[in-house]
Formats: sequence, C-alpha cells, structure tokens
Amino acid sequence: MAIDKDNLHSLIKERISSFQSVPEMEEIGKLTYVGDGIARATGLQDVMSGELLEFSNGAIGMAQSLEKDDVGIVIFGEFETIHEGDVVKRTGRIMDVPVGDALIGRVVNALGQPIDGQGAILTTKKRPVESEAPSVMDRQSVAEPLQTGLKAIDALVPIGRGQRELIIGDRRTGKTTIAVDAILNQRGKDVICIYVAIGQKESSVRNLTEMLRQQRAMDYTIVVSASASQPAPMLYIAPYAATAMAEEFMNQGKHVLIVYDDLSKQAAAYREMSLLLKRPPGREAYPGDVFYLHSRLLERSAKLSDEMGGGSITSLPIVETQAGDISAYIPTNVISITDGQIFLESDLFFSGIRPAISAGLSVSRVGGAAQVKAMKKVTGTLRLDLASYRELEAFTQFGSDLDVSTQQRLNRGHRTVEVLKQDLHKPIAVENQIVILYALTHGFLDTVPVRDLKRFEKELFNYMNISHSSLMKHIVETKSLPDEEELSAVIKDFVETFVPHN
Ligand code: ATP
Ligand code: MG
Repeated sequence: MAIDKDNLHSLIKERISSFQSVPEMEEIGKLTYVGDGIARATGLQDVMSGELLEFSNGAIGMAQSLEKDDVGIVIFGEFETIHEGDVVKRTGRIMDVPVGDALIGRVVNALGQPIDGQGAILTTKKRPVESEAPSVMDRQSVAEPLQTGLKAIDALVPIGRGQRELIIGDRRTGKTTIAVDAILNQRGKDVICIYVAIGQKESSVRNLTEMLRQQRAMDYTIVVSASASQPAPMLYIAPYAATAMAEEFMNQGKHVLIVYDDLSKQAAAYREMSLLLKRPPGREAYPGDVFYLHSRLLERSAKLSDEMGGGSITSLPIVETQAGDISAYIPTNVISITDGQIFLESDLFFSGIRPAISAGLSVSRVGGAAQVKAMKKVTGTLRLDLASYRELEAFTQFGSDLDVSTQQRLNRGHRTVEVLKQDLHKPIAVENQIVILYALTHGFLDTVPVRDLKRFEKELFNYMNISHSSLMKHIVETKSLPDEEELSAVIKDFVETFVPHN
C-alpha cells in the first residue's frame, strides 16, 4: 500500500490510539563486586531498599544499602557461580516466603524451601518477609495463658498468648530445652509452633526435629533452619521469614508460638553482612541499627483484638550471654524490647538445679494477668520465698545453731527448689502443677524427705488423677481450686500413706 498523505494521517492516528505504555520494570544492573554472600552493583537507579533482585544463575538477592549508583546486595543461596560483570535484574517485588497449613510438619530454609526431602510444599500463598507490626488499635492486652508445662515458668514467670519472653543465659544452660519443652506442651492446645534455628549445626537441628517427630510435635510445628554453614544473609532473614509464616496463622485467628534460637547468632550474621557492606561499625562492631534488627522483629508478636480475629503470636527469643553478662549490647537491647526474661544460671545448672532459672533475675511483666486463677492462688509468694531462701541459705551456711523459724524456712526453701526441678521433655499439665504446688505451699511436703520428692510427685499425680479425678476435673474446667478442705484432706492422706525410701 502506497503511503500517501491521507492514509499516513490515519495510520499515525491508529498507532497512537492503540499505543500502550508498558512500564519498563525490568531494570538491569551490573555487578562490580562479589564475595562472601555480598555483591555490589551499579545501574540499578530506582531500586527500593529490601527489593528482591535476580542474578543470572537464578539465585536471588536483596537490595540492602543504597548509595548513589551503588547498591549493596545480600545474596541468598549459591554465590560461588555469581561473578563480577554479571547482570542483576530488578523484580519490583519485596522478598516473600510461602505461607499456610502446608508448611506444618515441614523443615524449611530461610526462603521457605523444603530441606527435609519430603517433596514440594503445596501452597500458592506468600507473604512478605518483612511487614508492619499490628498497630496498638489492632491489639489487645495479653489475657490467655500460654502454658509451657514447666513448673518453674508457669508458676514463677507465667507467659501469656501474645507475649514476648526472652530466654537468656550462657552456653549450655538449657535454653533450647526450655523452648522446645514449651513446644512439646502445646500438643492438643491449638497452638501452631515454629522453631527457628539460627546458626546451629545441621546435625543438631536434625536431632531436634527427630525428637519433635517422635514426640508427635511435628503435627503442629514448622522448623525453619538457617544453619551455621549457610551464608550470613540466610541467618539474618530466617527470623523474619518465620514470622511471616506465623502472621498468616495469627491473621486467621489462630495462636502461634515462635522460638528464635538464637538472636545472638542473627545479630552476629547481621554484623558480618554490614561489615562486608562497609557500613560503619559501632558498639561491639555492630552497625548502628542493630537495635532495630530485633525491635522490628519482636514487635510483630501480638495478641490481636477481637475485631481482628483474636489470633496471637507468642515469641520466645533466645539470647546467649558470655559469663552471665546481661549488660552486653545485644542482651540489653533484647531485654528492653521483650516483656520479660527467663534468666538461666550456669551455677544452678551445674549444681543440678534444672531448669536453671534464676528466681531473682527472671521476670514476666504481663503474663501474671493471663495466669490460671488457681495457679495464681497457690504461687502467691513463691517467688519471694525462693529469693529470700537463697539469701538465707548463703547467710546461714556457716552457722550451726539456727532458730526454729529459720530452720523451717530453709526446710521449705529446700523443698521448693526441689519441686521446681523438672526433667527435660516431660511437660506437666497445669492441673498437676497446681496440685503439687498447693501441697508445697501448704506445708504438706515439709515432712517428705527431699530425695523422695520426685517420686512423691509422680505418685501423687497418679493418685489424684485415678482416685480423685473429680477434683482434677474441677481444676481443669473452672481454672480454680476445688474445695480446699477436701483437697487438703486428700493430699494429707496421701502423704501419710507415702513410703519414703531408706
Ligand atoms: P547451647 O548454648 O549449646 O545452645 P543451651 O543453653 O540451648 O545450649 P540445651 O542444649 O538446652 O542448652 O541443654 C544443654 C544440655 O543440658 C543438653 O544436653 C540437655 O539435654 C541438658 N538439659 C537441659 N535441660 C535439662 C533438664 N531440665 N534436665 C536434664 N538435662 C537437661
Ligand atoms: Mg541451644
């Protein structure tokens, strides 16, 4: 067709009317540096902080420090096959992970990819790894208990759904065990658990998952692992990714318990990343915003208002101390962010007092409001008694002639310490806890030899649940104590028939 003036005119008109402006999202940059899980690129003008980037080998990265025509990128996954000079593509998306029921029972990495060899995770839903914490208006105060099944915690530092309670202590003081036992205790309680392993050996995570499976806790648990052998960015992102998974459930009105084991290693990974990205180091060589690293994470734990469905995320972050020093940078930060802490002491742990919870230094600022009524009643002064017992014990260790009341207090204190000990992976139902603590605080154990207390407890639970199930049922159903005269009489009878070992 010859183009004359007329049809040129109409051709142009037609082209203009059919013109569609397709935004050019795919912006391309060039890598100027690659090393240690970090890359730098030029040419990514409009990239957003936190934006997902794609490398030519298929690996993904996240834009971290934005400077003029120089973007610091953290690489998730394989970085050995990424080279200087390679291109890197913008995606226009923020990093996200798969979420939903299909994750329950699975072990995944920080990107939500399965690492348990059990095939694909069948879910199409995703959530951004970072998101705003619920606003004050969308929350309500903590009012329902999150039973850990550990006497020392449920009695002394009770935790409520939506609370953030720090578990802090030196290496090998039983931190992980406490958190994991709290997971075991959620069986049948409609709480979904997420265990986030940060910077641990793969073999430890495998053993732990195996134990959870054997105890049938994987039925309601997700394990997210960024192991020590993985690059720092994976350790950095794992807690956020796991929290995104938790939020999905919370927003459906469900309850979640999430354990971050541990945030010291996440902070160290963040420090490593930041140093590689050449950000100025501050106190203890952490970058200046390390407080924000943990505050924006833990703020996402919440108890939602009824209008928002009433779901919750309870979190148990773990922090490791050096020589019990809770005044170091990361410990003080996380202590100030959380609603209390469970402080574990090496001395207690090695002297056989396990869980090695320090009664003096452990607190729960909001959990008391959520404690079961009957529990509150039996534990009234337990914490103070215990703290004063420790003082008294130190004070009287060289004295021989003690007056009767001092002797009595020591006697009770000794038994209190013994009763609060608990074997690992043996959570105790709250009604049983209430019965033994009732017996303790009402003096029924004062005549039972200390070395027999463990067996006494076991036999008492059996006796109560078999021969006096109505009393136990009363506690379970009403959350309050049964007729105290009757309860005391039953316990007294049991004490009288109990045979101590010689
Ligand atoms: P790490 O610093 O290595 O992470 P941790 O503080 O998490 O250690 P755990 O791994 O929980 O400590 O426990 C250390 C050891 O003590 C484990 O072998 C564990 O089985 C044992 N342990 C923990 N709690 C108890 C308990 N209540 N009774 C008996 N043994 C326990
Ligand atoms: Mg541990």
